[in-house]
Amino acid sequence: MTKPPESVRTFWDGPDHGRHIPFGSTSVQHGAAVFEGIRCYATASGPALFRADDHLVRLLNSARLLGLGHDYELARLRAAVVDAAAATGLPGCYVRPGLFCPDPLLTIDLGRLRFRLGIEMWPMSPTPVPPRPVRLTVSPWRRPSPLSFPPRAKAVGTYVTSAVAKTAAVAAGFDDAVQLDPDSGRVAEATTTNIFLVRAGVLVTPWLTDNLLAGITRDSVLVLARELGIPVREGPVDLAELRAADEVFLTGTAGELAPVSVLDEHAYPAARPVFDAIAAAFHATVTGARPDHADWLTPVPAA
Ligand code: PMP
Repeated sequence: MTKPPESVRTFWDGPDHGRHIPFGSTSVQHGAAVFEGIRCYATASGPALFRADDHLVRLLNSARLLGLGHDYELARLRAAVVDAAAATGLPGCYVRPGLFCPDPLLTIDLGRLRFRLGIEMWPMSPTPVPPRPVRLTVSPWRRPSPLSFPPRAKAVGTYVTSAVAKTAAVAAGFDDAVQLDPDSGRVAEATTTNIFLVRAGVLVTPWLTDNLLAGITRDSVLVLARELGIPVREGPVDLAELRAADEVFLTGTAGELAPVSVLDEHAYPAARPVFDAIAAAFHATVTGARPDHADWLTPVPAA
């Protein structure tokens, strides 16, 4: 196993527990916490966070969906993640802000607790070109039911459901798993990424109705594809359609855009013209080479 990069820094806006969350906290005991992952990219005018406000609005929405007690608003979160990225001194990094409970109290009434901002930062550079293709399997584990949990919330505890699907996929010799919607049985997403397919020149991705995380990379890809003149359809996607696709790829903040080479016993063609065009547009956008999307970049001043 390759050694993961060590995080370079931690910011913690909590009481004087150093950088530690007490073991008795409901965030540790029950996974009651929400988080985001944001990329900072090197651009010609210095480091910049990609779609930081969209991530932080999603963080606040996740907190609202779970009913977490906290005192943060968007401007304060934005200032904290910009400071955190600047403090790394790195041109590119991955920033993980989260709201965690610092109090070791025996309650799961999350509204009574005050959740505090913590930020972890890792060094991260853009995905090498060409990116390594992903071998996917179909997980026997479906996404959590929206009748049991709000699927739009990016909550720490729900990632155990992604982890069991990923762990089983890797044990079976694959890199990752596609998970199905609990109700419809249609394709929802992979364990930590959204999924796209291309069929006869049309870019297709599961609609948000099928209970997936509203990925910010997913949204960026939809915007960029439309700008490239690629026909786009958000709608129901069944497994047969996924298998019959000409191209399949995954999207997420950490892994960016990753092509899929295999779905169980089925191999996809090696040529991926639509993926290549969108990946090039994405790379140009995040590194600031496209002024038309400058509003997606938040500059990080030198610390
Ligand atoms: N789905 C799941 C379950 C995820 O964990 C992620 C990663 N945040 C995504 C999709 C992709 O979302 P984004 O593009 O906003 O990183």
